[in-house]
Amino acid sequence: MPTPTSFLSALTGSFATPAAENPTVAMIERAYRHHGIDARYLNCDVSSQRLGEAVRGARAMGWAGFNCSIPHKIAVLEHLDDIAPSAAIIGAVNCVVIRDGRLIGENTDGQGFLASLRTVIRPAGQRLVLFGAGGAARAIAVETALAGARSITVVNRDPAAGEELATLIATRTRAAATYARWDRAFPIPADTDIIVNATPIGLFPDTAAHLDLNTDSLRPGLVVADVIPNPPRTHLIRDAEARGCVTLDGLGMLVNQGVLSIKLWTGVQVDPGPMREALKEVFER
Ligand code: NDP
Repeated sequence: MPTPTSFLSALTGSFATPAAENPTVAMIERAYRHHGIDARYLNCDVSSQRLGEAVRGARAMGWAGFNCSIPHKIAVLEHLDDIAPSAAIIGAVNCVVIRDGRLIGENTDGQGFLASLRTVIRPAGQRLVLFGAGGAARAIAVETALAGARSITVVNRDPAAGEELATLIATRTRAAATYARWDRAFPIPADTDIIVNATPIGLFPDTAAHLDLNTDSLRPGLVVADVIPNPPRTHLIRDAEARGCVTLDGLGMLVNQGVLSIKLWTGVQVDPGPMREALKEVFER
């Protein structure tokens, strides 16, 4: 890190397209200011055709690292020198660290989720029901399985995607995994410990959307997590609260990803509080 008297700030940022509406910058820069970290975070609109140039530019300019978002999370793999073990299984990278000119790919999507989960339950030995089989679901499934989850039931509209994720978990981790059809209000099996919504259901502006599950099967003490950061109090979270479940919102997962990225780039363990406030301010505008 530069010394306080240096005029050379550490550079970090995000490569995505579209990029203008990505609020991560507000959250990360709030943390930098709060902790007096001499670093910047720049939102960069990078097209697929220019991703390689952008990555080489970041290396040439001595960036500390960058996030990758849509559509670069898989495409960036070919530009990296190394990839963290869980990111390799997930098959996608959303955070690149540049150390001594070497680019290392990490995936903080699932790790951010895991950090939230650990505030309420130990993942080891737990049984999960996971709604969705896209990028977020994949990252969550891999990280919870590597953290020792006993089983994961993947519930997804498209059977092919659901079965592919269940097979990935069953073959690449020690967790048991099965696919379950989602053709009715899904009843949560009585021995479930944790359920996760990893679909976009509930995301602004379609905030009235309901995850199709049997709400009578939500029992007190069940951990119910939602990936939706905006608004954080989704229908699922409110239904779960009303039934005495332990809830985790998607804002926590997003903030924890930022905490992990900053630690990887600067070595500083930052306070998530101001970051959560910064995001809430953006979403409430
Ligand atoms: P993907 O497009 O990769 O996957 C979407 C998944 O949701 C698919 O499994 C899809 O099912 C399912 N799905 C979509 N619409 C519906 C619907 N109407 N009914 C049932 N299933 C549906 O998206 P991501 O995994 O990248 O993102 C999912 C959500 O996670 C987004 O809303 C994103 O905002 C959020 N997210 C939050 C993060 C956080 O830090 N809080 C981090 C990353 C993502 P099918 O296969 O049948 O099409």
